[in-house]
Parts: sequence; C-alpha cells; structure tokens
Amino acid sequence: MALLSRSLNMLLTTAALALAGLTASPAAAQQFEQQPIDPSLTVAIASPVRDGAFYNLMILEQVPNQRQCWQEQNTGSGPVSIDPLLLNFDFAGACDRKTDSNGYSVRINGQDLGVHYRLEVSARQNDLVLFARPTRDRSAPPIEIGRTNGRPQGNTGGFLKIQLNPGWQMARRVFNGQPVGHIYLTHDAPLNVRLAEGAAPPLSQSPAAPALPVVPGAPITQAPPPPPSGTTPTGNHFRVIVPIVNNNTLQQVRAVEPEAFRTTVDGQAVVQVGLFRDRQRADEIYSALVAASLPAKIVAASAPAVASNPVIPPIPRGSIVVVIDPGHGGRDPGAIGIGGIQEKQINTTISNRVRQQLQAAGITVLMTRDSDVFVDLDARAQMANRAGANLFVSIHANAISMSRPEVNGLETYYFSSGERLARSIHSAVLRNVNMRDRGVRQARFYVLRYTTMPSVLVETGFVTGAEDAARFRDPAAVNRIADGIARGILDYLGR
Ligand SMILES: [Zn+2]
Repeated sequence: MALLSRSLNMLLTTAALALAGLTASPAAAQQFEQQPIDPSLTVAIASPVRDGAFYNLMILEQVPNQRQCWQEQNTGSGPVSIDPLLLNFDFAGACDRKTDSNGYSVRINGQDLGVHYRLEVSARQNDLVLFARPTRDRSAPPIEIGRTNGRPQGNTGGFLKIQLNPGWQMARRVFNGQPVGHIYLTHDAPLNVRLAEGAAPPLSQSPAAPALPVVPGAPITQAPPPPPSGTTPTGNHFRVIVPIVNNNTLQQVRAVEPEAFRTTVDGQAVVQVGLFRDRQRADEIYSALVAASLPAKIVAASAPAVASNPVIPPIPRGSIVVVIDPGHGGRDPGAIGIGGIQEKQINTTISNRVRQQLQAAGITVLMTRDSDVFVDLDARAQMANRAGANLFVSIHANAISMSRPEVNGLETYYFSSGERLARSIHSAVLRNVNMRDRGVRQARFYVLRYTTMPSVLVETGFVTGAEDAARFRDPAAVNRIADGIARGILDYLGR
C-alpha cells in the first residue's frame, strides 16, 4: 500500500512537472471548481467498440429516485461486469451517460488537465486500464487511474466496471457556483511540496497569460462587458486556423476536421477550422491539429453574426427528429474535384433527397442549411443539440490529390454512440450503389463529438476519384446514394 501510493505520487509529480513545462496555461479552466459525488451514483465503464477491438470510457450517472441505470454482476474477486440497463433510447431523466471529453476530464489537485490529458482505456494483458494520456507532450508518461482487475475469458463485447485506484474519485464540475453535467476523474494529491523543490512553481500560481500562439495584433483578451440589450451579443471567440504552407494543407486539415475551409485572416491565406466561444473546445481542436503535425494557431475573433446560426422551426410534439447536415456552403465550396465539380453542390443535392425520403416516412427533418450559405462548425452541432434531435447525419464528399483518380469509395464515420447508425447507413448505401467500400471508421470530428445524440458523417465518394466523380455527374446515381442513406436511417429507427 505504501509502495503503491509512493509510486502514484511519483507519477503524479512527473505529470505535474511535465505540465508546468508546457507553454499553454490552464487560465480558461481556472474558473472551475469541483464538488463531490455520491460514489454509489456513478460508475466508470470500459465500453467495447467493434466487439472489443478497442474500448472507450463511458461514465453513467444515476439520477436519484429514478429508474435504475445499470446493474453490477460480480464474477468473483476479479472483474465486475456491468449491464447498462438504459443504453438504447430513452434514458433521459434517469441516467446521464458521458462518452467523450465533453462529458468527462481529468483534474488533479484542483487543476483542470482536460486540455493536456485524454482519458483512454487500453488493453494490458488480461486487464483493461484507464489512463490519462498526455496529448501535447507525448514524451510525458501516462497516469494510471484505474483498471477492471481482469477480463473474463473470451470477453469480446461486455461492459466492465473500471475500479479506481486509491485516491481517485469522481467529482462534479462547478461553474460560477453552479454544478454542471461534466464529471472529473480527480485526485487530490498535494503536488506543491515536490514541485517547490524543483524549478516549477505550483500550478495554481502560474500566470494567466495567453500562452497559445496568436497572430501579432490579435491577443486573446478577457471578454468585453456585456453589450447593451437589444444588440447582437458579441464577445471574444477563439478562431482556430492553420496557415497555408503548401498545396496539401487544406486536405491535411480536413483529415482532422472535414468542415475546415480556406479563407484569409489579416491578409494571410489560412485554413479556418472553426470559431468557438469555448476556449477549451478551441484548445482541443488545436491539440488534434498539432498532433497531426500541422502548424495550428488560435487567434482572437469577434462573435459570428447571428445570421450564421440556423433557426430551429417548431417541432411537432412526439416526433422523431433527424438533423441533416449538408457539409460546407456559401463561401466554402468544400472539395473541388474532377471537372471542377464542387462538393457543396453534391452535399446539397444528396441532403435534399434524404430529407424528402425521411419526411415521406413521417420523420421531422431539420437542415443545418437549406440554401447555399456558410454555417460555422459549432453552429451545426449546436443546432442539433438545441433541437433535442434524435439523430444527426452530416453529408460530405471526399477528396485526395487530383493525381490519385484511383482512390474511390464510401466512408462512414462515427465517434461514440453513432456506431450502429453508421453501420446501418453504410450497408444500405452499398446495397443501393455499386461503389467501393472503404469502411465504417471512428474519428474525432467535431460534429460527432459535440452532438449529444447518435451522429455520423458520411463521405459519399471522392470528387477526385475517376469512378466516384463520374457517379456524382449522374443524377440517378446520386439519388441512389441519397436513398441508401435514408434507408439506413429508417432501418436504424426500425421504420
Ligand atoms: Zn466536406
């Protein structure tokens, strides 16, 4: 026990030192507090993906005095298997489920580390281990938080409880004195003593300077005072950009975030990934771009015009709501392919046909854009969240270099809860259209991570591919793609 806690302290100290050496300050996160949670009301679970090919962290939280969320089955002294009772549809009100960094993060000794550490479940011999893994300084060691204490023989798809190591617990985030839905995996180890011996000051006293790179003349400053009532709210937003350094920059950024587009900032040609009110979301995308070796920057920006936010029409009571998200639009044409074919037009044509088919089946369909206008990345996800949509389907066309016409095929992406929807759509399209199958894939795209319902992104073919571009020029074939997507959605919904 003593040995265990000492090695834990060493790990934590290493983590804190690594953190202090980073240039980014946790300024944005310092406004958060934490509050304990009754341990019997939350459970951390290793949640299998692709029949246990890999695992995600899922946290369930029981709402007191409501239907039971999960059941634990102890198989002896080892692992505890979990039966999540309300996983499928209507767990709202009884059970809160968190499946990504929007719902949980790491906090150590009162410091939010969500930007610097990603929670990850890794298979280790006969165990599944929950780690906080560094996202920026990849030479820093991961921190072990808990483990399943074994894995039943032949377990290929079961949910297992993650038993937290000594000193670790779950706590709730508190913002401006109000508890919010975000859960911390937290450890209260006092790190300051060891840090005081070293070069780094305690983290809580680090200066709150803007530490991410910013373009000159555009420092990130505090939010301005609230505007007079009756005007468009403005304030500091965070624009994530990548300067265009060569012909591949746009494609490389789109592999990380498909909705990215080309624009200019202060006269410089850049790829803009998105505009965020929330610094932490900007930081997360920044980290993903840096991890892909792209020279990303965060710059201050004013709030987007209200006109770029999609309006949610009245929704009939009790209806199933599907948000269709045609990628790109307006000043962002999306990918440009063989013969000058524009992705945004393909996305629009397919989306309109999907809408028509779903409406014919009695589904309420909302579109993130229904004309050729620009809509920011975050606005697309937030529309679905604000509408309380049941499903979100983003429609894109793919691209690679114009010198690779041999690359063709369908790809369907999900992040967490959209896997079954992704498989349903993917197979329905392939049944309807004779095209190459590039598989159902997992990706951390923004609209998949920050929508709260099952969500997928369909890449309906390559505008740069000889076979796919020819299909995109054939209206009957484009309709078959759309009909396949609609069929896959209806199959998923059991219609
Ligand atoms: Zn696209």
